[in-house]
Amino acid sequence: MDDRHVEIWKNCLSVIKDNTEPQSFATWFKPIVPLSLNGNVLTIQVPSQFYYEWLEDKYIDLLKMTLKRFLGPEAKLNYSIVMDNSERPYTVQMPGTNRNNPKNPIGMPAPDKLSEGPINPFVIPGLQKKTIESQLNENYTFDNFIEGECNRLARQCGLEVARKPGGTAYNPLLIYSGTGLGKTHLCHAIGLEAKRLHPELTVLYVQAEQLYNQYFTATKNNNRVDFIHFYQMIDLLIIDDIQFLAGKTGTQEVFFQIFNFLHQNNKQIVITSDKFPSELQNIESRLLSRFKWGLTADLQMPDVATRTAIIREKLYINGITLPEDVIQYLASNLRTSIRELEGVMISLMAQSSINKKSITIEMTQQIIERFMRNSVKELSVEYIINIVCDYFKISPEQLSLNTRKQHVVQARQIAMYLSKKYSNASLAAIGAQCGKKDHATVHHACKTINDRLETDKQFNQMMVEIERKIVL
Ligand code: ADP
Ligand code: MG
Repeated sequence: MDDRHVEIWKNCLSVIKDNTEPQSFATWFKPIVPLSLNGNVLTIQVPSQFYYEWLEDKYIDLLKMTLKRFLGPEAKLNYSIVMDNSERPYTVQMPGTNRNNPKNPIGMPAPDKLSEGPINPFVIPGLQKKTIESQLNENYTFDNFIEGECNRLARQCGLEVARKPGGTAYNPLLIYSGTGLGKTHLCHAIGLEAKRLHPELTVLYVQAEQLYNQYFTATKNNNRVDFIHFYQMIDLLIIDDIQFLAGKTGTQEVFFQIFNFLHQNNKQIVITSDKFPSELQNIESRLLSRFKWGLTADLQMPDVATRTAIIREKLYINGITLPEDVIQYLASNLRTSIRELEGVMISLMAQSSINKKSITIEMTQQIIERFMRNSVKELSVEYIINIVCDYFKISPEQLSLNTRKQHVVQARQIAMYLSKKYSNASLAAIGAQCGKKDHATVHHACKTINDRLETDKQFNQMMVEIERKIVL
């Protein structure tokens, strides 16, 4: 028997594996069975319609690229869908639904579990409201959400909303920021505080991705009305990462209805987004215009003092101590997101306990470097040059020119510095790609940039912006 399809799929998988998170790979690719290969058409079997849509939605580029690599430019992919067993309609496990919050009721429990515990929104809507599990993470409180210039407005408005849900001008309250700057933390804090002050209210935190998954399942099972009714019972609805709904017109439509209903009934809505509303693409304009009814507040990267305070708070919560100079080093060197800051702190603790060494600046330095490389996979010098050129509005050719024009020299030095920080390339290789310079020039550039970072606040701010473009 010809099992070239098996071979081809095996090859594809090895590429896909390198390009996806282990969790996603296990969830979405492992269950796929290659069925046949007809010319350049590979047919794969997926467990359900949902898988198919998910793959098409999330992984189409990766799939295309991989298939073309093994089957040539005309490669095509065919899906064969195994129909869901209709007796177990709620068992599709969404990625991530249970990751942060194991009690999550909307992780679609098996049908036989539905009689116990919190209610499943699609099955028994209209039951006693207070049995709805809010999906709030108890660790994300206002108390440990450190205040700074960077988040004052959002934090303050969040507090007011929690005190008087539906009773302020901030409805909806839309919080936006880049990743890792505290949106999720803040909206959990709002939910927790509202529940503490008003135990009678029904509060629900839901990621936009969950909303989409639920709606998908509800539609499939003809439960659309139940779905809407369920959401209409909520007094404080928190939707995290609304940008996920981009292009998901069905879910947007239904959310629009829910939104209007809740708003008309003075219920509170809190939304987070990683973009400013007007920059959200593929979100219907009538929904966007609703967002403007309330208040939009952003979260910025905290300044060094606030970062230091956040580090101390995290150390305190985890019962850990770090030498003062290491704290200062972390606060001044990690400038792109708080999540990254936390990641490095965790690695530090782990390293020091494994090696039984006390934590020093040198060790911190190494871990930051390694962390950056791991978290930002395979950044090439070329990629970094492109981002820097884009930022300074010059072409990569201009960057390589042998010129003394100040803005070109600066862009080149920045490109060198960032390449050293984020790529695995040697100084010589970096130099070669930045206008045929030698490794000493790169070394000098790195030093120059470092000096400026330490002394020039505005320059610092600019570098943060560029680095965010690189890592996010
Ligand atoms: P986002 O949702 O914007 O991607 P998160 O809310 O997940 O970001 O925040 C990332 C991490 O940073 C979380 O662990 C959070 O507790 C922490 N964090 C963010 N802002 C603050 C703050 N002001 N004080 C304390 N911790 C913070
Ligand atoms: Mg988040």
